[in-house]
Amino acid sequence: MASPDRPVRPPRPQHELTVVSAERVGPHLVRVVLTGDSLADFGAAEHTDAYVKLRFTDADGDPITRTYTVRTVDREARLLTIDFVTHGDVGYAGPWAQQAKGGDRIVLMGPGSGYAPDPDAGWHLLAGDLSAVPAIAASLEAMPADASGVALLEVEDRGDVIPLRAPEHVDVQWLVNPATDDVDFLARAVDGVEWRDGVQVFAHGERESIKEVRRVLKQRGVPREAISISGYWARGRTEDAFQAEKRTPVGQID
Ligand SMILES: Cc1cc2nc3c(=O)[nH]c(=O)nc-3n(C[C@H](O)[C@H](O)[C@H](O)COP(=O)(O)OP(=O)(O)OC[C@H]3O[C@@H](n4cnc5c(N)ncnc54)[C@H](O)[C@@H]3O)c2cc1C
Repeated sequence: MASPDRPVRPPRPQHELTVVSAERVGPHLVRVVLTGDSLADFGAAEHTDAYVKLRFTDADGDPITRTYTVRTVDREARLLTIDFVTHGDVGYAGPWAQQAKGGDRIVLMGPGSGYAPDPDAGWHLLAGDLSAVPAIAASLEAMPADASGVALLEVEDRGDVIPLRAPEHVDVQWLVNPATDDVDFLARAVDGVEWRDGVQVFAHGERESIKEVRRVLKQRGVPREAISISGYWARGRTEDAFQAEKRTPVGQID
């Protein structure tokens, strides 16, 4: 039964899709292009951080859900692209993407979304790790040509740097950090940018790293309404554990 303070959300549309291609674009990145007729009506056109829930099943046949950003969607051509970070043989989505080939089938639900670059923002600060590069790339592509700002992209390996299209006055910085236990690496980079008034922030990625970024944004006095921030995953946690922890203190970003 619905709780009185939790509105009931209509179920997200379901899409039964087929893999067109799966291509390794970096040592930790696989790009999968999917197709299906239902993509003609795919939503979230107004946002650049659209995400979908991919459905897998575990060894007992129980459903498993994993969340991924829509890197691009072409409703007319009915094509949807997802960039998967690969992180070894553990999990469901990463290993699925590593083995995906044309003709494979997958079911996903969505989209959900919430952010778009504000054309009236004084400047933009985008920060994240490889899991947030798809959303940041889509956001950069949607900005007007005269937008300005900084995009800070933390990667473990220089090979994961991929070409991005960005407005001329958005400084895209790829920051290589092989030390995965250095959780305030991204926050230090955020603190080091040239701060001015009027920023709009998009910061997403590994949870502990994003907590450190939030701390810097608080110190800088950035208004909450100018910030889109969340963990996309947490080191050492499956997505199920990560999502469950959102209801406990360790899972809170703010
Ligand atoms: C809104 C949203 C959008 C997202 N968009 C993307 C996206 O576009 N591309 C993308 O790759 N991810 C994205 N993610 C993150 C993705 O959902 C998680 O990385 C997810 O845990 C991967 O599922 P899995 O089955 O591969 O691994 P899981 O079974 O969830 O985890 C298995 C193990 O792998 C580790 N692990 C998980 N992800 C990573 C990683 N990125 N790097 C290193 N170790 C990891 C876990 O900590 C765990 O120890 C997004 C998450 C959210 C909430």
